Amino acid sequence: MRAERREQVEKIERLKRRKNAIILAHNYQRPEVQDIAEFVGDSLELARKAVATTAEIIIFCGVDFMAETAAVLNPEKKVVLPDKGAVCPMAQQLPPAVLAAAKREHPDAAVVLYVNTLAESKALADCICTSANAQEIVRAVAKAKDASTILFGPDRNLAYHAQKATAAKIIPVPEYGLCPSHHQIVLQDLERAKAEHPQAKVVVHPECIPEVQDRTDFIASTSGMVKICRQQQAGEEVEGSAVAGDEFLIGTEVGLLHRLEKEAPGKRFYPLSATAVCPQMKMHTLEKIEAALESEEPVVVVERGVAEKARRAIERMLEILG
Ligand code: SF4
Repeated sequence: MRAERREQVEKIERLKRRKNAIILAHNYQRPEVQDIAEFVGDSLELARKAVATTAEIIIFCGVDFMAETAAVLNPEKKVVLPDKGAVCPMAQQLPPAVLAAAKREHPDAAVVLYVNTLAESKALADCICTSANAQEIVRAVAKAKDASTILFGPDRNLAYHAQKATAAKIIPVPEYGLCPSHHQIVLQDLERAKAEHPQAKVVVHPECIPEVQDRTDFIASTSGMVKICRQQQAGEEVEGSAVAGDEFLIGTEVGLLHRLEKEAPGKRFYPLSATAVCPQMKMHTLEKIEAALESEEPVVVVERGVAEKARRAIERMLEILG
């Protein structure tokens, strides 16, 4: 590590101790941000960590909806998003008015929303899910509410994945919600990568398009993808499937490669698409984190009435997961 970088990291460490702060980082963050975080994980794990921490300040290195979720679950803690421009485009695709209109059209439907939504939309949902548990949540909600229809948004690709787990009809809201970064990964990428690495297992995120999901060996959240690759290293079975080989084709945002290479050394990982980059996830830098720790800004604030309703929907998910 360069002397200048080392000094900066030491300063951040001192500030964290002085302010009783922790850094939570999503799996898609820049490598140097992942390396200074107390915890790196997927949305569900970050939400759980935000609840469990005794720190007074959470420096949240992810996008807006994740920081909002942390704020909703921790009204007494200060949640700081180092760059407030880190706004997830997918979450913006489901404004509360669009969801409210869909609810009017389908008054008997249950509403399950991906955590990648605005707090105002979460406030209108029965339950939240993440990519780690979408199938489990739709099954549980359909049963609990005796619902034959579920409004599910904003990602139509995760809706496709969730539909496989329930007999209830899943209606994507909006009809064409998607993650622009995962839409960089197309079927030709998968076919080319398989031809180049015929021994490799394919592990993809459910935000990928159905054509890619249908031709993969495993579908999992980002942390689930790490678990699958690590377990293979230990020679264990994953979900009943014996896995072999030491190469993986990775279908998600490229930031996950850093964590994979750190936690499964000796394995080889190839991104299905090197252009699957989320610019918003890359906005947080060490400079901005240091500034955020100094100033304790910008703080993420969710209006109280909205936060209370959104919290109920998030807690419903946590109750189902047990
Ligand atoms: S990777 Fe996609 S869903 Fe995740 S924050 Fe970026 S745009 Fe949003």
